[in-house]
Amino acid sequence: MDADVIVVGAGPVGLFLAAELKLAGAEPLVLERRETPSGEPRARGLGALATEALWRRGLGEQLAAADVEGTKDLARDHGSTRGHFANIFKIVPSDDRPRTNIWQPELERVLAEHAEGVRILRGHEVTALESDVDGVTVTAGRTWRARYVVGCDGGRSTVRKLAGFGFPGTPALLRTIAGQARFAGDVPPAGRHPGGTFLHGGSMVGVTEPASAPETAGFAASVRRVTGVDVVVEEFREERRFTDQARQADTYRRGRVLLAGDAAHVHSPSGGQGLNLGIPDAANLGWKLGAVLRGDKPEAFLDTYTRERHPAGEAVLRNTRAQSALLAPGPHVDALREIVADVMDLPEANRYFAELLAGTKIRYDFPYPAGRPAGEHCPDLEIVDAGGRKSRLHEHTRTGRGLLLTSEDLADPRVDVVPAANTGPLLLRPDGVIAWAGDGDLATALGTWF
Ligand SMILES: Cc1cc2nc3c(=O)[nH]c(=O)nc-3n(C[C@H](O)[C@H](O)[C@H](O)COP(=O)(O)OP(=O)(O)OC[C@H]3O[C@@H](n4cnc5c(N)ncnc54)[C@H](O)[C@@H]3O)c2cc1C
Repeated sequence: MDADVIVVGAGPVGLFLAAELKLAGAEPLVLERRETPSGEPRARGLGALATEALWRRGLGEQLAAADVEGTKDLARDHGSTRGHFANIFKIVPSDDRPRTNIWQPELERVLAEHAEGVRILRGHEVTALESDVDGVTVTAGRTWRARYVVGCDGGRSTVRKLAGFGFPGTPALLRTIAGQARFAGDVPPAGRHPGGTFLHGGSMVGVTEPASAPETAGFAASVRRVTGVDVVVEEFREERRFTDQARQADTYRRGRVLLAGDAAHVHSPSGGQGLNLGIPDAANLGWKLGAVLRGDKPEAFLDTYTRERHPAGEAVLRNTRAQSALLAPGPHVDALREIVADVMDLPEANRYFAELLAGTKIRYDFPYPAGRPAGEHCPDLEIVDAGGRKSRLHEHTRTGRGLLLTSEDLADPRVDVVPAANTGPLLLRPDGVIAWAGDGDLATALGTWF
């Protein structure tokens, strides 16, 4: 064996997963096709669940530093730092859970540093894969062997195709061309136009139109078709094209091959949710694979990964499809948008949209009776011990072990005990999910996960 786990892809999800595996005592090997990190400014926002996952591993300071510039850039490009649903910029976070404005290349730099000590081989494209009872053989130049392989190789995942995962979903309704543009002469106003949406702010521009529109040679032709204005584009750089096709792997595990991040789910970037799914995928899978590799848990334990994360992905696909419906051009959609925008002014509705995009109301079903908030991701609680000393949850989670927050004198070798006089008892998994909150039997919860 060259490693316990081969992680294919050194994007944000692969890097974070590799670090989680290392923390769980496993030996990961990352194979990445690119010689150098891509530098493509795709994601610029990390949602609450992804931000908290990185805080738990001590990356809070780096994220906070990046957030200063990231938030300025967001205000410049979007004209608002509010969250949006289908470009209706009205969402105010309903909680004090952290979010981060960080450009993806900077995030990847932070995560590569965090994964220090993990073997990452760049310039290694995976082209073949074969599973047997003992492990998986992967071809990237030469062959590599490990007990498990995780495809973190993005939306066009080779691992997903080679291992025969189904990838059902809906084709593109809309397509977007974005980049940095310099115009000569008149620039049409930003916003909705008869043929689609034209956005510009700062130096960033984007044009979204129905995917059924004829494929055109370039950005200027799309802008003309959408706005009716005969724009002259002097320069167009950093072109990116993407669609809103929404697809999800039918399962996240086939034997010894697993998927995480965009390899498991693709959808429109509306609302910036890809990494708020992908990073929690990695957080969910890392410690579970570690437990199986140590022999603490049988292989079937890995099925809880699909059981928990597939519905989370489904929820995002659903809300991005709804956003696409609201982004389609035409007077009927204009009318619907006005009504949705009015509804978003209602505080309860605003909270609904905020929670929908943050994913914080996602609750896993457990195989034992457990009342709320068991099954939810725990926020970064303030903890006060019996002596009045204060700390935050993320200060106790660097080891990647389970935690028992309690005011009682309990000890269990499977988890770390954190004295907490200000909260009810809580059992937390290494991925920050509340496994038990005082309802039902602690021993069952401990035995299920540890
Ligand atoms: C315009 C745009 C804006 C976005 N904005 C946001 C946002 O604000 N917030 C947010 O959360 N998300 C956003 N997203 C989505 C986000 O960028 C993705 O969800 C994220 O990149 C997924 O990370 P990943 O690690 O799963 O995959 P990727 O980032 O795609 O990384 C996959 C890696 O695998 C490598 N690879 C591929 N094939 C192979 C192979 N055969 N062998 C070896 N290596 C391979 C690739 O080179 C790459 O490094 C946006 C996306 C777009 C397009």
